Amino acid sequence: MNISRKEFFRKSLTSLGEAICTVSDALKAPVAPPQDVRETENFTATPSEDLVAAAHNDRCLAKNSGCFSCMERCEFGAIKLIPGVGVRINQQLCTGCGACEHVCPVTPKAIRMQARTIHTPSADHAEQLTKKGISTC
Ligand code: SF4
Ligand code: SF4
Repeated sequence: MNISRKEFFRKSLTSLGEAICTVSDALKAPVAPPQDVRETENFTATPSEDLVAAAHNDRCLAKNSGCFSCMERCEFGAIKLIPGVGVRINQQLCTGCGACEHVCPVTPKAIRMQARTIHTPSADHAEQLTKKGISTC
């Protein structure tokens, strides 16, 4: 089949335009937000040596003895209730399993998994974290 040069360019431009629209539509399609596996129903506690629980006592209900969920769930006895403060994590006992974060009923979670660091925070840093309601031990 013979087509003129003009017709060839017209068809090429039409195809290119359609391709650009397809890519543009694909880019506009909503992207599912990354899901935190510890918040899914299918959660299974799995110890991880790279993770450790950290308390955010500014939003913890245990401050007023209103919640014990994480303590009851922790099989390793790594969480203690401190009346008037919230919870405290014993990093030596914490296996990084994530069960406490999973059961925490508040939003955002008052106990979160974070990367386990090898160093021990300095006294100043520990004090700053404590003032922010983040447990360092
Ligand atoms: S991640 Fe939470 S539940 Fe698991 S061992 Fe550590 S403190 Fe306990
Ligand atoms: S489950 Fe959450 S709100 Fe309840 S005591 Fe633990 S950290 Fe606090």
